Amino acid sequence: MPIYEYICNSCNKEFSLLQKMGSTEKDTICPHCGSRDVRKLISPFCCSVQSGDSTGNTTTLSGST
Ligand SMILES: [Zn+2]
Repeated sequence: MPIYEYICNSCNKEFSLLQKMGSTEKDTICPHCGSRDVRKLISPFCCSVQSGDSTGNTTTLSGST
């Protein structure tokens, strides 16, 4: 079973739950305050960082003439 990450809109705490596939916010209750007003977060391991365009790609490998 995958681990889903949630954040509670009531107490603003993040928590992760082991749930079956397809579980939604409606199946989830915040373990901290018991609120059902939670939001699912994107799993941190699903998106791999591929394009690093933070500082621009300046590859100065080819020497000047
Ligand atoms: Zn909460």
